[in-house]
Amino acid sequence: MAQTDVIEGVDGRRTFAIISHPDAGKTTITEKVLLFGNAIQMAGSVKGKKGPHAKSDWMTMEQERGISVTSSVMQFPYGGRTVNLLDTPGHEDFSEDTYRVLTAVDSALMVIDGAKGVEDRTIKLMNVCRLRDTPILSFINKLDRDIRDPIEVMDEIEEVLDIKAAPINWPLSSGKTFKGVYNLYTDTIHVFQQGMGHTIPDDIQIKGLDSDEASELLGVDADDIREEIELVRGATHEFDLEEYKAGKLTPVFFGTALGNFGVREMLDGFVEWAPAPQLRATSTREVQPTEEKFSGFVFKIQANMDPKHRDRIAFMRVCSGTYKRGMKMKHVRLGKDVKIADAVTFMAGDRTHVEEAVAGDIIGLHNHGTIQIGDTFTEGEALKFTGIPNFAPELFRRIRLKDPLKLKQLQKGLQQLSEEGSTQVFFPLDTNDIIVGAVGVLQFEVVAYRLKDEYKVEAIYENVNVNTARWAECDDAKKLDEFRRKASINLALDGSGHLTYLAPTRVNLSLTEERYPDIQFRATREH
Ligand code: GDP
Repeated sequence: MAQTDVIEGVDGRRTFAIISHPDAGKTTITEKVLLFGNAIQMAGSVKGKKGPHAKSDWMTMEQERGISVTSSVMQFPYGGRTVNLLDTPGHEDFSEDTYRVLTAVDSALMVIDGAKGVEDRTIKLMNVCRLRDTPILSFINKLDRDIRDPIEVMDEIEEVLDIKAAPINWPLSSGKTFKGVYNLYTDTIHVFQQGMGHTIPDDIQIKGLDSDEASELLGVDADDIREEIELVRGATHEFDLEEYKAGKLTPVFFGTALGNFGVREMLDGFVEWAPAPQLRATSTREVQPTEEKFSGFVFKIQANMDPKHRDRIAFMRVCSGTYKRGMKMKHVRLGKDVKIADAVTFMAGDRTHVEEAVAGDIIGLHNHGTIQIGDTFTEGEALKFTGIPNFAPELFRRIRLKDPLKLKQLQKGLQQLSEEGSTQVFFPLDTNDIIVGAVGVLQFEVVAYRLKDEYKVEAIYENVNVNTARWAECDDAKKLDEFRRKASINLALDGSGHLTYLAPTRVNLSLTEERYPDIQFRATREH
């Protein structure tokens, strides 16, 4: 382990998320990272049946389907730092959720399957990271299998993801003949041992690529490998801390998550280089993490994480100051002071009460319907953190009840599911219909399942003639009012009461935009 000095407080915080294409190994590497962080006794319990995720009923659905719809936070100590790992939902349909999680981190770890290289979802997530120039560390996984030529994979990262790639270590072969990794900066070989997936393996090192010990390890391939590494040194970028922090260069590590090899080297690099909590933009000024007064924003709401509690948790990223148990905070949108007595965090799945949290930490607030995604909390100042958008849905269904007497439950359920960002709900001005909107089709299934499971309502979907939605805004109240009257047939209020234009076709949308030039039609809405 590289670090022995312990850094307390904000400077020692490292808050990150893992981004990857499904099956690249995100879950497996999360397990190993938690193993190193002593957050779990034995690797292998993150996705397992007895694992923390097995708590809630509707989560059985995600287990059956092999997808992760939940997003949680794990805090653990490593190398003298306090690491916050934010889990991102893995399925494509939940990109909106993932987007919001990425607004709450200071850096990301990109996991790439060495045999597959850069895949679709990695590209999309990388684009999201680029919006905020989030620093990215890379881990090329599955070296215990035959992978593609590592030089080719490095080239692909540079070309497809448009970021410089700087290898920190280099694999010594792969698959059956995988011998370990060679650190280009310390001239040290870390030797791979098989069968150590569930333990913290000893770090067996050989000093010097040209040493006799190295020759012995590499055997007949020794000369070829030395030549290849010489070539790699000349042909790849050198690591540069400033470029990494600016999101322009990614340090690359090789290893196997399943074999728990190379993960330690990656983690050591991570705690040394990854940025401490960064400043955050608000609508009025930038907030420094070291400011004394508390502030934070809500980036995720999760309903009924534990069916016995039947509560909702609002995940808040602390941006400045210190949260102390029992403190009063201002709920800026409501202009109200609230006392937060029982914030929670999720240490490898178990709820623990937080006594104190600083910038970079995530705390969970119990939400009884007053907190929405994007809400800012402060110690008094009327700040509003920016950059947490809603996306216009692309798929729409009318929702109908099997039992009409359950309208109240349906409305309550949809209201809550829309607050946590699982779906968007629209109430047309001229009819009593309820229309739900989603970014991906799987969201509809999840909503129907959860309505039944948690709110005991059986809902049926019907097709509806809506192609796209736009939030309608105008500074001139008179003009907005006129628009509201004249176009009411296509207008609705969303779950938070914002006026929304539901366009039956793209052509209709263009015509309407032309007809009402003073109205702004927005495809994203800031929370
Ligand atoms: P996720 O979808 O990104 O969370 O991927 P998982 O961690 O669930 O891994 C997908 C599959 O790849 C699982 O069957 C893992 O056991 C396997 N896997 C993950 N890491 C490695 C590795 O280093 N080597 C090999 N051979 N398989 C791996």
